[in-house]
Amino acid sequence: MALSGEAPYPPQVAAQSGRKRISILGATGSIGTSTLDLIGRDPQKFEVVALTAQSNTAKLAELARLHRAEVAVLGDESGLSELRDRLEGSGVRAAAGPDALIEAATIPADCIMAAIVGAAGLAPTFAAARQGRRVALANKECLVSAGNIFLDEINRAGAQLIPVDSEHAAAFQAIGSADADAIETITLTASGGPFRTWGRDQLAAVTPEQAMRHPNWSMGAKITIDSATLMNKGLELIEAYHLFPVETSQLSAVVHPQSIVHCLVGFRDGSILAQLAPPDMRTPIAFALSWPERMETSVPRLDLAELGSLTFETPDESRFPCLSLAKRALQRGGGAPTVLNAANEVAVAAFIGRRIGFLDIAGVVDTSLDLAERRGLFRAPASLADVLEVDREARAVARSAFPD
Ligand code: NAD
Ligand code: MG
Repeated sequence: MALSGEAPYPPQVAAQSGRKRISILGATGSIGTSTLDLIGRDPQKFEVVALTAQSNTAKLAELARLHRAEVAVLGDESGLSELRDRLEGSGVRAAAGPDALIEAATIPADCIMAAIVGAAGLAPTFAAARQGRRVALANKECLVSAGNIFLDEINRAGAQLIPVDSEHAAAFQAIGSADADAIETITLTASGGPFRTWGRDQLAAVTPEQAMRHPNWSMGAKITIDSATLMNKGLELIEAYHLFPVETSQLSAVVHPQSIVHCLVGFRDGSILAQLAPPDMRTPIAFALSWPERMETSVPRLDLAELGSLTFETPDESRFPCLSLAKRALQRGGGAPTVLNAANEVAVAAFIGRRIGFLDIAGVVDTSLDLAERRGLFRAPASLADVLEVDREARAVARSAFPD
């Protein structure tokens, strides 16, 4: 299995200070701040190396001071002098720009939390992999867009890849040390989002504000919209395909509105193992930071009797076509998932900017897949540079799929 890492976790870096050195790419986001919440409670165990953000200078500087980071890096170069001012006297080094993000990912650390949103996270996450240490992967777009190429990078470097996405962290736990041929099925659960029971007419009128109100999870804007369209579950099926030793036919999604069971793994003896936890990302983040050990978290504990019932239903792909588009891209392989992801990022941004409607997100992705195939973009990318080129071209295709 790719993610467990064949080699034992190398202890050299940790040994110098006795604490685990952690870098966070995308530190100001939902996953980034949850990670800092966890490690900030345990300063005896963790020290913060690099923190990065795109443009939120004030928050990045505040977090870097609070957690005594070694370096704080902004993606957006125009914020560098403000970042320097805000960090004056703190001892935290400041840097900015795309190359600085990549450098931040290569500063020696025991674990790099890859929590930049979207394909923007590809180059820094690849750089993190090259350290040959542990990559805690929240940035699912990296596996969707660059699948095998990213795994090759992980394996070449001898790095460990530990999933942070709750469903994949759950599958990882349920699989444990089972052999690949013992696994029959992997079923990812989906909350169904805020519009699970809505009809098509209602869906056509959904506003960004409505789509931003997720019933169970508190997350960044893009993944919250992806959860409302069910594209998130589609991206996660692709992610699971790369992480676990299964064929596409063994993967499925089931709607589970309570978001308590995160994944179910079926074995050939008829058993199903599931992982349960409250919908709070600190549990899977803690798992990725501390595996194979378990660390304490303050996440509220489940009371199953109080919950009373856990329910499951089949996703309705006619109302939520993004799920079938993602399955189509997974089946097709090659550059199709790269195109799917890029087109979805463009469509979600256009929806948030009120340039297209909620149902148009699927429409734009569908049209983009067709146009991109005709332009030869489904060719299998052979390198990160190829992936970034297909991503760039697919974004142009997607932008041509709706009026500006
Ligand atoms: P978010 O929007 O809250 O945070 C994104 C972070 O990335 C921020 O620190 C931001 O500054 C940085 N960033 C944004 N654009 C960037 C760019 N162009 N270059 C460099 N940095 C950039 O997102 P999030 O909800 O924390 O999600 C992060 C990743 O984790 C996503 O890939 C998401 O799918 C995945 N994930 C999130 C959750 C969750 O609960 N939030 C759960 C599972 C997986
Ligand atoms: Mg998830």
